[in-house]
Amino acid sequence: MPNHPTADGTALLVRRSELHGNGVFARRLIAAGAPVVLQQGIPLETEELKEDIKAIQVGPRAWLLADPENPHESDEINHSCDPNLGFLDGSLMLYAIRDILPGEEVTFDYASAMADPHFHVNPCRCGAANCRKEIVSFPALDAATQEKIRPIALQYLRQILPNQPMANSVNPQLVGPNKDANDVL
Ligand SMILES: [Zn+2]
Repeated sequence: MPNHPTADGTALLVRRSELHGNGVFARRLIAAGAPVVLQQGIPLETEELKEDIKAIQVGPRAWLLADPENPHESDEINHSCDPNLGFLDGSLMLYAIRDILPGEEVTFDYASAMADPHFHVNPCRCGAANCRKEIVSFPALDAATQEKIRPIALQYLRQILPNQPMANSVNPQLVGPNKDANDVL
């Protein structure tokens, strides 16, 4: 397993996860509120997406595609319905929501980034006590869950109100972040 570069060179490492495929783990204690990793990749627009790619949505029509030439921890972060990372200032920086212990897997809530109406992973196997049992995009969540996730969501999602879908995808086969092409979730 190759080591990937980290935001500060020491905080994170990538290895197999019990949650799903590869995961990203803390090498050391990360204090609540600390910036941990910047989401990055090759910018794409919705119309440029292809099936079975690993990409994360970062705007109404904007995506970041994992760069195979330049792998990064942000490509491999698994989803959790009870994440320890969040977009606390609405930017692409993921911050620690709480103290993260050495060896703990770091996760974020994919609903805090995704708006695509076709994004759907069922079942969710994050294992959290409050698991929502499926992963859908922010606009597809009920009002109470949107309220809970809004403070850790990307800025472009924060003004979306309940029952306000963003119908912007052309690709029903979209796989979303950290979903390997051949995995069966
Ligand atoms: Zn879950």
